[in-house]
Amino acid sequence: MNERDSEAVAAQLVAKGYSLAPSENFADVILLNTCSVRDFAEQKAIGKMQNLAADVRKNRPNVVLGFMGCMAQSRGQELVDKLPDVDLVIGTQKFHRTADYLDEIISGTREKIVDVKAEEKSEATIREHLLNGNSQKSVSAFVSIMQGCNQYCTFCIVPYTRGEERSRTIPDIVNECRELVSRGVKEITLLGQIVTSYGKRDSSLTTHHSSLSPFVQLLEAVHEIDGLERIRFTSPHPKGYGDDLIDAYARLPKLCESAHIPVQSGSDRVLKLMHRGYTREKFLGIIKKLRAANPEIGITTDIIVGFPGETEKDFEETLSLAREVEFDNAYIFKYSPRRDTPAAAMPDQVPQKIREERNQQLLETVNEIGKRKYNSFVGRQTQILVEGPSKKNAARMSGRTRCNKIVLFDGSERHRGQIMDLKITRAGSFTLYGDPAIVNL
Ligand code: SF4
Repeated sequence: MNERDSEAVAAQLVAKGYSLAPSENFADVILLNTCSVRDFAEQKAIGKMQNLAADVRKNRPNVVLGFMGCMAQSRGQELVDKLPDVDLVIGTQKFHRTADYLDEIISGTREKIVDVKAEEKSEATIREHLLNGNSQKSVSAFVSIMQGCNQYCTFCIVPYTRGEERSRTIPDIVNECRELVSRGVKEITLLGQIVTSYGKRDSSLTTHHSSLSPFVQLLEAVHEIDGLERIRFTSPHPKGYGDDLIDAYARLPKLCESAHIPVQSGSDRVLKLMHRGYTREKFLGIIKKLRAANPEIGITTDIIVGFPGETEKDFEETLSLAREVEFDNAYIFKYSPRRDTPAAAMPDQVPQKIREERNQQLLETVNEIGKRKYNSFVGRQTQILVEGPSKKNAARMSGRTRCNKIVLFDGSERHRGQIMDLKITRAGSFTLYGDPAIVNL
């Protein structure tokens, strides 16, 4: 989400005549887009700003320094009070005002600006794309479909930093997707904090007589776009996996067989404390139905270990759920208390040492299952969309299978954007290696 927001702000600034600096050492404006999801992320952003103030500001006093995003939203004026070098603080509903605020600061009309107010229709303003400045064609793009979340999980700061659920209209989203496809994009990932709640709070956005949920109606509309090859979405909520969405995996060929479904815990007692709104049984039922709709589906998840009150027995249930589902991968987080969230004030906070031990134990289980799953691809033929050179080794090209596994192969720039069949020759740690030549023999 943050990467997408940063890209939209950068594209808005480029449209106003700014250009992207190769690094902060050359920039006249440095904006840190911040995350509040864990305390560590906030401390890192504050530390980074202190370094910028000490190094960059010292040599170039006119550089504009600012915070945007979730920490800017939750701390607001406090950031300027504590860090006097900060000129600009832009909340999560104000990204589109960045260029105007910079004009005011650079022209000297205003010295410091803090804007974290709510703004109606701001959800529709994250729409501009850079697409790598068009010098290298991007084949995959993110499209923000909604902002905010009303689930209020007890550990999560998002409803306080991103506000209530607000969705864009289907025609607005489809227009943005069409424009991207006309610029060479082949794969679109629909983005939101809780995408499966898309349109639920505004009945004017969708077709009333349809029995399909607004989110599935949106998937259908995006699916109609000629030239678009693949659709993905993130993040959904297990509560949103109704039969209509599960059925969409079987009936919409462009919808990739991959699902990132955050489970957070395998214990019903902890799920209730977290205010997640489903049970272990319900979650397992969704997985079963998804695999029945498409046996090739890749399933990943997020899990929190050491949530307040999590006992050894609760943790064992999480371990057993991970073994039962056999996730392709899982992102494991040690619980981190966020200020002003209900869980931070709950009794029985789990000591850090135990959180770390549980994190390690679950990680080993997830890695062992992942290794087995990835190894099962060796010798098989699979289809990938080539995204560009590998980040770690530019001599290799990188693509993704429909079930969202990264595949590296010896290719060249001419393969970018192609849908290719590869034979998988070996598996590494959550990466596959393939060879197109074997397929073509
Ligand atoms: S559904 Fe996701 S974004 Fe919403 S409160 Fe829960 S964890 Fe946070």
